[in-house]
Amino acid sequence: MKEDFLKYIRENYELFESRKVEQAYKLAVYANEGEKRLSGEDWINHCVGVAYILAKMHMDVDTICGGLLHDVTRTSKVSVKDVEREIGEDVAELVKGLEKINEIKYRKDTVDESESLRRLIVTMGKDIRVILIKLADRLHNMRTIEYMTKEKQLKYASETRDVFSGLAERLGLSRMQGELDDLCFKTLNPDEYSILEAELNKKYDKWQETMQKIAGVLEYVLREQEIKGKVTYRFKNFYSLYKKFQKRGTEKIYDIIAFRILVDNVDDCYKVLGAIHQKYRPVPGRIKDYIADPKPNGYQSLHTTLITSDGTPFEVQIRTYEMHDYCEYGIAAHWNYKGASDKAYMLQGKLDWVKNLIESEMQITDSKNFVKAIQMDFSSAEIWVFTPKYKPISLPEGSTPIDFAYAIHTELGHKCVAAKINGKKVSLGTKLETGDVVEIIKSSDSKGPSRDWINVAVSQNARYNIRLFFRKETTPENIVFGKKILEEETKKVGLTIGDIIDENNFKILKEKFNFESTDDMFASIGYKGVTVNQIIKPIQTKIQNQKEDAELAENCPILVEGNTVTNYKLSHCCNPVPGDNIVATTNKDGLYSIHTIECKNIKLIGEDRYFKANWNNKIKKLYDVNLHITGKDEEGMLSKMLTNIYKTKMPFLGITAQNFGEKFEVTLHIKVANKTELDKFIKLVSVDAPYIETISRKNIG
Ligand code: MN
Repeated sequence: MKEDFLKYIRENYELFESRKVEQAYKLAVYANEGEKRLSGEDWINHCVGVAYILAKMHMDVDTICGGLLHDVTRTSKVSVKDVEREIGEDVAELVKGLEKINEIKYRKDTVDESESLRRLIVTMGKDIRVILIKLADRLHNMRTIEYMTKEKQLKYASETRDVFSGLAERLGLSRMQGELDDLCFKTLNPDEYSILEAELNKKYDKWQETMQKIAGVLEYVLREQEIKGKVTYRFKNFYSLYKKFQKRGTEKIYDIIAFRILVDNVDDCYKVLGAIHQKYRPVPGRIKDYIADPKPNGYQSLHTTLITSDGTPFEVQIRTYEMHDYCEYGIAAHWNYKGASDKAYMLQGKLDWVKNLIESEMQITDSKNFVKAIQMDFSSAEIWVFTPKYKPISLPEGSTPIDFAYAIHTELGHKCVAAKINGKKVSLGTKLETGDVVEIIKSSDSKGPSRDWINVAVSQNARYNIRLFFRKETTPENIVFGKKILEEETKKVGLTIGDIIDENNFKILKEKFNFESTDDMFASIGYKGVTVNQIIKPIQTKIQNQKEDAELAENCPILVEGNTVTNYKLSHCCNPVPGDNIVATTNKDGLYSIHTIECKNIKLIGEDRYFKANWNNKIKKLYDVNLHITGKDEEGMLSKMLTNIYKTKMPFLGITAQNFGEKFEVTLHIKVANKTELDKFIKLVSVDAPYIETISRKNIG
């Protein structure tokens, strides 16, 4: 297996490419050393199996490496970083994408197949090649499914049938889909499978003879027409046969065998069709032109059914080599296709769903650009969401239902009043995430967009259209009328219009409502694009806050890095008082906690984690302190101590006392103005008190 694979790579890829594959192989061997499959085989055989499938699809070398390393992180010997360093960034990205896909649950929490598919597609992240590797992995696991328990086999196979086979179909990977379907069929309906197999075997010899004869005639027709081409035939997939036979019995050979004629160009396809219709009688209504009218997944071919002189019908498919590659490998055929003359045609009117995932205006002229186009980064600047009919829409990251509505149609944007995301009603400002299904609820009564939507919307298109809507409303009448209302209303709350258009204050309104000028603001009030209250409220709040901040700052005893701060608290662990050396830590809301530098909690964290702080000594306040006193318990000790405390005449809030046999422990809760007062208090309490052994401040030391 390993030798075959490496030989295949050497023969079909460039030297530097096969070196890269060998590197990846070595890394995979290292990561999976000693690991066994359920079959008892070495795990590496699975990795090689997956990579081999991809190589046979003519995938590029990075994808093949991705196949070798598709589960490399599962033993935790090798990380994505290692892959990046050893093999390269591109392969590491693929491995990362695969890890992400593995997080999806395919069935349990999803409603139906299309939902699972949707998730799979949107989670593929950067690169559709991740999906191709995932499919190859699935195919290889299906090929070795017999080693699972019966119960697991059924679960795995039905998941494959419901999700992965459909995905392969949509990507045009018909060969892979055929094999997946057959393996699922064999696992899920073993009896039907063996009956069908026996039946086909019975007729095989007789058919073989007929087929060779027909193939000979077809080759003769090509020679006669001087067309270079190749005739092949093969049995159709078991599963598709099974479905057909359920409908109609097994007698008609054209259901079972497909002849294929491959030629160099499209002209030859039609020439061959004409020529064989001269030779054999066609079955009416069975000529299909998928070249002019490709299937939704991009499949192109001419189909016709003919009848031999002895009355045997058979189907012939005619297409170019390039189309054939596409028929077999679908989207994968866009990689590394050698000898294609005109690749642009592949994308015309085909592969609609993938194309929609790509920017519609993008001109894709060759396969390299195509690869680039589908490698677009879904995770960074862009998100993909869906209409209720699953049409994908691309929007910038941070977009809201408003952006979505304008992306569909400007009028829908203007009339939009509410939205649902994944069936749940949400506010119009909700941020959309890749994969969301968005439904816009509109109302014909809507007067138009709301002024603050410009801030909610992030897409250029939505912002432009909202702005345009408002620009149309800026008339002289509206300006005069709006200004008059604003003047009246500001007076009522004790402000003037000057407060509103003050440069610093108007800045807030300008940002909030995207006014271009004060006239613009007056006009919006005039035509009721905003209410007067919406204008006055933020300015009122700002003026109020400024007043309060000024008052607070005046009374603030703490400076952090030299600035007075209002948002602080003195921490209860160490209860700092003026005179203590202090530092400040900050939490995520910007609140400062003030500690003494001796606080045990501060000693636990690094110096770079706190700020320098100082006391503003002009502010006189009292501060809480807890004193911890221990000593020998003796008769009347507590009343002596209380007498001493009383003599200090300092505010005393409480005492807790405990004794443990000979020893006592007392905690005093007092208020002091600063450290000098505290030291004085400690001294006075210790006078004539031989019973005291230690006095300390809580949490300091
Ligand atoms: Mn695997």
